[in-house]
Amino acid sequence: MRKILFSHVRRVVVKIGSGVVSNQNGLDVPRIASLSQDVCALLERGYEIVLVSSGAVAAGKGDLGIVGRPPSIPLKQAAAAIGQSRLMRAYKEGFVVRERKVAQVLLTRDDLANRRRYLNARNTLMTLLEYGITPIINENDTVVVDEIRFGDNDNLSAMVTNLAEANLLVILSDVDGLFDSDPTRNPGARLIPEVERITPEIEAMAGTAGTALGTGGMVTKIKAAKRAALYGVGTVVLNGRTPGALTRLFDGEDLGTYFLPGNNRMAAKKHWIAFTKKPRGKLFVDDGAKRAVLDGGKSLLPSGINGVEGGFDRGDAVRLCDQNGVEFAKGVINYALPELLRIMGKKTGEIEKILGYKYGDEVIHRDNLVLKK
Ligand code: GLU
Repeated sequence: MRKILFSHVRRVVVKIGSGVVSNQNGLDVPRIASLSQDVCALLERGYEIVLVSSGAVAAGKGDLGIVGRPPSIPLKQAAAAIGQSRLMRAYKEGFVVRERKVAQVLLTRDDLANRRRYLNARNTLMTLLEYGITPIINENDTVVVDEIRFGDNDNLSAMVTNLAEANLLVILSDVDGLFDSDPTRNPGARLIPEVERITPEIEAMAGTAGTALGTGGMVTKIKAAKRAALYGVGTVVLNGRTPGALTRLFDGEDLGTYFLPGNNRMAAKKHWIAFTKKPRGKLFVDDGAKRAVLDGGKSLLPSGINGVEGGFDRGDAVRLCDQNGVEFAKGVINYALPELLRIMGKKTGEIEKILGYKYGDEVIHRDNLVLKK
């Protein structure tokens, strides 16, 4: 059945967790070699693959004498700096056996939140794919601080699914998929093969636990699947330690949990606004403007705005809130705060008179507005 579901799939993002590529002693090089063979087998079948691999911290921390999780951010960053090249080397050697090449791409959230850098990163990915080279992406751990972190590679892989315009997200984990209860505590726990929609009940099943090495647990995987679903892409979470997991999955074996894509695919740009771009301020709007945006699918005009919070530039994302302060949408604004303060509450036709120029009639164009679900 999966075979039919995947029949349209051509480009796949495969996320590989720390728990798959490492063990107590650091990097599990033989496992990376066999995973690389598995990926190469899919490339030979004509799929395009973008890898998102964790494991830099796990690969480097031993050199710093760290057992378990690094106790501080600087130690984690130092471990990543040591481990990232080791991780890439292991993949490179795994791929070279099949005469294939890999490329390292390190990203921060900031890179993707900036539209120009996002488009540049996309061009790089597309060029690599065009040349048959497999990009291997990781968070640029050595430079990230909280504001510019993806947080975990599950989230990063969802962002990359959008960035690479992929048709499927595969998350290789050290667990078999989503269970109806915690399989480490309940031997009768049942694997859920398919999730049609991620409901609060499904989210509750995920619990909160992360493994000793990775940042995510099932919670972050479900969040990633939810984001991918909104983009019209399905997600499979399966055990990456299963030999030949990827080829077997594409052969149609019912491995892991398949989260179905949503029916309404959000445009790539809207998905980026909703999840990648960080909002910098809030606009408060009257009921008429709220209704026009929510029910009428209209752009936001200056006349409906009656309050502002925070500072923002033209091109930043802002939250739209109603008179009770409840957020109902997010969008990319055409005017910077000082400009907005002068035109808010005014008619569209007055913008040019007040500012001496105008970037458009809309404060936020409807193509750049995403309604909150
Ligand atoms: N970027 C981290 C690493 O390579 C992993 C983050 C995660 O596991 O989500 O070690």
